[in-house]
Parts: sequence; structure tokens; C-alpha cells
Amino acid sequence: MTVEATNLVKNFNGGPGNAAVGGVSFTAPEGKVTALLGPSGSGKSTLLRMVAGLEEPDAGNIRIAGQDVTNVPVKRREVGFVFQSYALFRHMTVHDNIAFGMEIRKVPKSKIEARVAELLSLIQLEGYANRFPGQLSGGQRQRVALARALATEPKVLLLDEPFGALDAQVRVELREWLVEFHEKTRVTTLLVTHDQEEALELSQHVVLLNNGLVAQAGAPHELYDHPASPFVASFLGGANVTHSRAQDGRGVSTFVRPHDVRLAKPLADSSDLELGTVDRLARIGGNVKLTVTLPSGEPMSVQITKLELDKLQISLGDRVAVDVTSSKVFVDDYAI
Ligand code: ADP
Ligand code: MG
Repeated sequence: MTVEATNLVKNFNGGPGNAAVGGVSFTAPEGKVTALLGPSGSGKSTLLRMVAGLEEPDAGNIRIAGQDVTNVPVKRREVGFVFQSYALFRHMTVHDNIAFGMEIRKVPKSKIEARVAELLSLIQLEGYANRFPGQLSGGQRQRVALARALATEPKVLLLDEPFGALDAQVRVELREWLVEFHEKTRVTTLLVTHDQEEALELSQHVVLLNNGLVAQAGAPHELYDHPASPFVASFLGGANVTHSRAQDGRGVSTFVRPHDVRLAKPLADSSDLELGTVDRLARIGGNVKLTVTLPSGEPMSVQITKLELDKLQISLGDRVAVDVTSSKVFVDDYAI
């Protein structure tokens, strides 16, 4: 079911100019995962809570499957949610947590049992029905929370940093798991995250927010390859930024992503390439992060694979040829 938000506004403090959400429109396509991405404080949770019906917008409206739900109370909005702070019932078993929403709605017992079994299999926790949340790992608990959210077959699944409280390794595992989970359920999902990697990996559509406004929306690779503003270019992928001035005085910023830089051993005849010095070199698993100081004295962050480093045979203090394979240029705030 498609979710459409039109000109949503939420202003907690009343004063103009500092709205948490300052007029946001977006469409979350049916059956897809849409990421609401942005730095902390950009209005992601407020936006999601308005879609859920937990927060009343000052202006604008929300449609789910074409129906205006702006004034429909949360109970009748048919959305399932998993928030970091919306924990499982501690005194109930996994089974009872998942069954809870159906029991409240007086779903027949046999149907509840079938649905709980189906969901336990979907979250790969068959055999855990009688455990209590305290007897599960953090990752297992969040999977149960997802099953509980899906039990009543909501039209839309709303996830607010669902893996935010888990440690890095579990988070990466759960990300892969969520991709498979979504392929099986195909439920329209809105995922709030501040983690660009999570958004790029999990979603088919990204709405990037900044200061309560949409900075850019589109397919993940569109935003990545064609950032509409300096903010988008620096938020996605991290970048080296250099500022200069055009002849007419307008500001020019150039963004170079660390992995869009190729390094080579300097050849005798390399006058056309810029030579830099490797001043920092850190291996992070299969990747290597380097800082190369350019002749101008400016540092440039470079990322290559460990395989490339081994081939290049460069080490700290070496002179290297620097070749920028791709960059984004903005004059004032416009991409050129
Ligand atoms: P995000 O989820 O992107 O980190 P939030 O939507 O939580 O951002 O917050 C956006 C802005 O609104 C922040 O400046 C935050 O302080 C403010 N805000 C959020 N909830 C409330 C609230 N209940 N009362 C007052 N201000 C709030
Ligand atoms: Mg938030």
C-alpha cells in the first residue's frame, strides 16, 4: 500500500523557522522499503510518528493506499511499528507477545495459533515460543518485535532505527536478514535510519532529510551518483571537499569521494599527475583508508581495497600519483 505524505508540518516550539518538520512531501511506493534518512535531529522520527498517527501534524496530510488517514486515530490506521523504545512485554512469552494484537482484536484462537507459528518460522525462531524476552539476544528480541508488528497484517510497517541499540556485528547480520524478510513479506515499509549504509543496503527508495526538509528523494544510486546539493554529496559516501571561487565571485565546491581516487606509484614521466605523500594508512578489514597530502598542503582521504594496496606496494611516507576518477562540482548550491 502506497504511503503519500503531502506538505507535512510539525512545529513543537511554535516559532516559525525552526519546525521539526517544515513542509515535507514524499511517496513510499507499494511493496518497497523506503528509507527516511538524515542526520540526528533532521525530523525523521517526527515524520514517522505522524505517519503512525502518534503525532498530529500542524498542517499537511497523509494517505495510505489512496485513503486520507490524517484524522484517523492510530488504532484504526492499520500500521505496525517497531521502535527502539517500544519494547516487548517482558512478562509475556514470545508466543504471547506475537499473539497480543490478535487477542485484543478477538481473532479466533485457531487462527492465532496458525499465524504465530507462521511468524515464528518467518523470523527463524521456531522453538522459542515459550521463552521470555529476557532469555533472548538483542537481535532475537527485535525479530520478535517485527513479528509482533506484522501479526495483525498491517498495511504498512514502520521501523524507527530498529537495530540502533544493537552492536555493530548483530546490526549487519540483521540488515541482511531484513532484506530476506522483506522479500518474503513484501509489506510496504518505512525505515528511519541515520546510517547511510543501512539505507543504501536495505531500501529501494530514499528520502534524505535535512533540517526538517527533503534534501533529495529517489533511488539510492540516483542520490549517490547524482547528488542534488552539497549536503547530499557530503552526507552520502563521505567526500573530500574543496572550496574555491569562480571569477564572478560565486562559491564553488568540489566533492571527491575517497574511493573515487586512484593511486599509482609515480613513474619517471608522470608530470601530468599530481604527486602526493601518504601520511596516514589504516587497514580496516578488507579496506584501507589513507590520507594523502597534496602539493597544495591539503589532505585528501582515499579509500582502496587491501588487494589494491598489496598490488601497489605503497607504505607510509611514500610519494604517490593521485588520479581523481570522478568528482561532483557545485556552484553555490547548484550541481554543474
Ligand atoms: P530525528 O529522528 O531525525 O533525530 P526528530 O524527529 O526526533 O529527529 O526531531 C526533530 C526535531 O524536533 C529536533 O530538533 C527535536 O529536538 C525536536 N523534537 C522532537 N520531538 C519533540 C518533542 N516531543 N517536543 C519538542 N521538540 C521535539
Ligand atoms: Mg529519531
